[in-house]
Amino acid sequence: MYDVTLIPGDGIGPEITKSIREIIEATGVKINWEIVNAGEGVMDQYGTPLPEEVLESVKKNKVALKGPITTPVGSGFRSVNVAIRQKLDLYVNLRPAKTMKGAPTKFENLDVVIFRENTEGLYAGIEHMVGDDAAESIKIITRKASERIVRAAFEYAKENNRKKVTAVHKANILKLSDGLFKAVAEEVAKDYPEIEFDNKIVDNMCMQLVQYPENYDVLVLPNLYGDIVSDLCAGLIGGLGLTPGANLNDELAVFEAVHGSAPDIAGENKANPIALLLSACMMLNHLGEKEAASAIEEAVAAILAEGKVLTGDLGGNASTTEITAEIIKKV
Ligand code: NAD
Repeated sequence: MYDVTLIPGDGIGPEITKSIREIIEATGVKINWEIVNAGEGVMDQYGTPLPEEVLESVKKNKVALKGPITTPVGSGFRSVNVAIRQKLDLYVNLRPAKTMKGAPTKFENLDVVIFRENTEGLYAGIEHMVGDDAAESIKIITRKASERIVRAAFEYAKENNRKKVTAVHKANILKLSDGLFKAVAEEVAKDYPEIEFDNKIVDNMCMQLVQYPENYDVLVLPNLYGDIVSDLCAGLIGGLGLTPGANLNDELAVFEAVHGSAPDIAGENKANPIALLLSACMMLNHLGEKEAASAIEEAVAAILAEGKVLTGDLGGNASTTEITAEIIKKV
């Protein structure tokens, strides 16, 4: 029995976290879910969208599964998703993107693992107006944060028999901030002579991923580029409904899909649970439950290959509950 924090989130979060709990239960792995809530819905009760008990629960259990949480645009509170990563210093945002047979995509041969720096860059939240007609957002890049994310990428490559790490930046224009990230990546690479290293400017990287996806393996990027490039990769493999993720440091792990709360389909039983389910597989692997993780991954692969029970984002018309039942039949 594992103690795991569950943050259901809002929008499609409650529907897909329910689905994931049922599927994990069907594998026989026993989890004692400690449910804590964050987001707009808890503002009245706690006076904050991110109650301390959420952070305390993750610190205590060390492992969490998290549904998406809506961020008001323009005004209102800052992103709870970003705040959780920053407050717990979850400096690695790990986002694997692999083409699966049967997924709705014209692109083949993508199998990249994204290491996005998760605590600084343009997400440091340092923004202010300059008079009424200008605004400044300050991008922070430090040697410490760059070094630990690049090292995490190389360590992952080493442990998972990956051949190459590519550092992605815009150091031709942002000579100091991205220049520091690039320089640190080059220094760290020297400690891993067995792994090929190169670096790419982010705009070129986007084009390369579309044209020559097979040339890329592990990518390491500052925060904003990591966010954007991982959505690009999600699109290449068939959409946000298929792309998992994890936020990690050396002690804590919070697993969540790349996608957001999908307010356009929330509450309609239409959401695809697979992205969060594959995040849960990363969690099961992290807990040492490798058999259960493989059983779920194989069930998902079979469902995609058969193409009969698929949600709308994958070109089908199955509901969340129907695809969940189908996965449960196969695990
Ligand atoms: P989104 O990922 O929620 O949705 C983008 C599009 O993809 C929508 O059309 C949506 O219906 C579809 N989609 C996403 N996930 C899907 C799924 N599982 N199944 C089927 N279709 C799916 O992005 P958005 O609309 O830009 O953001 C909505 C809200 O989510 C915003 O408030 C945003 O801040 C928040 N957000 C949260 C997280 C997070 O919790 N980590 C991440 C991204 C966005």
